[in-house]
Amino acid sequence: MREQTKKSEGSGEFALIEEFFSGRGKHHSETILGIGDDAAILSPPAGKQLVLSVDTMVEGVHFLPDTDPKTLGHKLLAVNLSDLAAMGAEPLWVTLALTIPENNPEWLGKFSQGLFALADRFRVDLVGGDTTRGPLVMTLQIYGIVDAGAAVCRSSAQAGDLICVTNTLGAAGLALRQLQAGGDAAEIRHYLETPAPRIDEGILLRDYATSMVDISDGLMADLGHILGQSGVGATVNLDAIPMHSALSSLASVEEQIELAMTAGDDYELCFTIPEQYVPVIRERLSSIGSVLSIIGIVAEAKGISLVGEQQWFPEGNGFQHF
Ligand code: ADP
Ligand code: MG
Repeated sequence: MREQTKKSEGSGEFALIEEFFSGRGKHHSETILGIGDDAAILSPPAGKQLVLSVDTMVEGVHFLPDTDPKTLGHKLLAVNLSDLAAMGAEPLWVTLALTIPENNPEWLGKFSQGLFALADRFRVDLVGGDTTRGPLVMTLQIYGIVDAGAAVCRSSAQAGDLICVTNTLGAAGLALRQLQAGGDAAEIRHYLETPAPRIDEGILLRDYATSMVDISDGLMADLGHILGQSGVGATVNLDAIPMHSALSSLASVEEQIELAMTAGDDYELCFTIPEQYVPVIRERLSSIGSVLSIIGIVAEAKGISLVGEQQWFPEGNGFQHF
């Protein structure tokens, strides 16, 4: 015990970094110098632009206390990868700022296991970070690249473009609801705890999409960012929303739509494309295991019109109902 307390102070910090974070896979020759010096040295390929994003996860705010540390390591990286996916960028490097209450080797072992399993899958190098003592807070910064000018922004949706999403929505929100109600969320728990970042989908879509966003705050909110920043509106067909099949356990169809439209944490991509690309995108997405759904069309007039047989009346204003 005494040893552990000592370890988490002074030189123990280096032992901790060495044991759990150093030398865990170098995937890129562009990583000149990783963990161990005062700073990392990276060499972005000529002609590429750097794409950066950072996300923090705080206990009790972004995850439930007592969440399996392995899933925390996964999710911290996954949410950052998802931001790069939404730009159509290729991830290369991450840095990790970790504030932990104590040097708990079991916790750190599981956390780093979850983190590096995903890092290896997407060939991301951990090149530095900072480790401090305090209430559990995890911050990860991600660095990716795209060809100059090729990143897909939120601000360039055009009237007439089709609005699309990948795969299904609502499972993460339903899992959170079930866990908060004391359930175990069974087979849908992984949607919340270990989401799949859509990096390959984002890279594929950057050649076609006029705008793109990842669905972290819920479809309505995130599509709203595209529309707002592009200065356009949309018609959305509620019948076309790809709801996860687990949502059928909810009492009413309206409740299902509500969850699919507003619950966050799905990390699917929402994007706009000119209609002629639909067949090629459907085919190419399917070849990497993802399903395309067309849920609406971009309109010149601002605001979102909801159409379809299904009815849903969102709270707040700014929506038009048909
Ligand atoms: P300094 O005091 O010069 O900032 P540190 O003692 O904080 O250096 O870190 C030593 C080395 O370990 C640095 O290369 C730093 O980037 C790396 N490092 C520290 N904490 C982490 C972490 N949680 N994950 C990855 N690398 C880390
Ligand atoms: Mg430091």
